[in-house]
Amino acid sequence: MKKHLTKILVASTAILSLWVAILLTPANDFLSLTGLYHQPIPEHAEGHPVDPGKGYYIEEVSDGVYFLSGWSHNTMFVVTDESVIAVDAPPSLGEAYLAAIREVTDKPVSHLIYSHSHSDHIGFASQFEGASIVAHEATASILRDRQDPQRPIPTVTFDEAYTLDVGGKHIELTYHGPAHGPGNIAIYLPEDKVMTMIDIAFPKWVPIHEFAVAEDLDAYYKIYDVLLAKEFTHFIGGHAMLGSYQDVKDQQEYAIDIKNGAVAAYESVGGLAKLGERAANSPNTYVTVNFGLNRMAGKCEQAVVDKWAGKLAGVDVFTHSHCKRMVFHAMTD
Ligand SMILES: [Zn+2]
Repeated sequence: MKKHLTKILVASTAILSLWVAILLTPANDFLSLTGLYHQPIPEHAEGHPVDPGKGYYIEEVSDGVYFLSGWSHNTMFVVTDESVIAVDAPPSLGEAYLAAIREVTDKPVSHLIYSHSHSDHIGFASQFEGASIVAHEATASILRDRQDPQRPIPTVTFDEAYTLDVGGKHIELTYHGPAHGPGNIAIYLPEDKVMTMIDIAFPKWVPIHEFAVAEDLDAYYKIYDVLLAKEFTHFIGGHAMLGSYQDVKDQQEYAIDIKNGAVAAYESVGGLAKLGERAANSPNTYVTVNFGLNRMAGKCEQAVVDKWAGKLAGVDVFTHSHCKRMVFHAMTD
């Protein structure tokens, strides 16, 4: 009988906790989960008119410098007097990438630059036969480890900086720390005023989940000043829209708002000692810790969403994850 009563008690406590959790989950988050509520996508963020027959959208942003967009991934390539220099090889573009190059030139692809090692950006690289592959040492080291035939090992590597001068085009490759991941480089054409850096800033959108799963948040925050110290009119970020200098500035401001909001929320609960005390006295430490993290992230999220709604698409979807990651970061670093 006593056993039976205990079971009932445990079951009702579980149901009650579920309801409390639902009631206390930030409204936006809960409604997003149910699919009932989303902010409308601002018109300026609605994506490029990808030709459904071709599978890409192409735009010449400077003389011989082409922005290329598929359904999910963006990249660029440069047609020089001698040959083509391609950046990345997203499998989501696949054959359409080669077709896009052929649409504007019949020159051979002499170089393929890897922005970083992630397969969603370079997993079609094996199809760029005969091109020399340029990448950061860390990218080469990761790819040597992966042994993925779709991502051939780079043939030219560098540590801090490397310059490509091909057929009258000047391209500067530089490394500024891991940020998004080891080996993720900035690709800059100063004469064309075009900057490319992948998976850092998402023009007119917010980054996807947890700052696009940035491996080193401190380096991630620092990278914005590095980019903005250069002069450029076009920015290519690998996803979202073709961007501008102002778009990178906006993304930096959004990221700083999250940092400020997360730190303020963390300080408002009395720091790690208070949180730890509450967690230690609860029946399940993890539930209490996660509940505390979500509450702090919710506080941070609300102010940021209010400010950026209508300007950055997806602000209602992923701000919570950025805030939660940043609260965690504030606790540990
Ligand atoms: Zn990536």
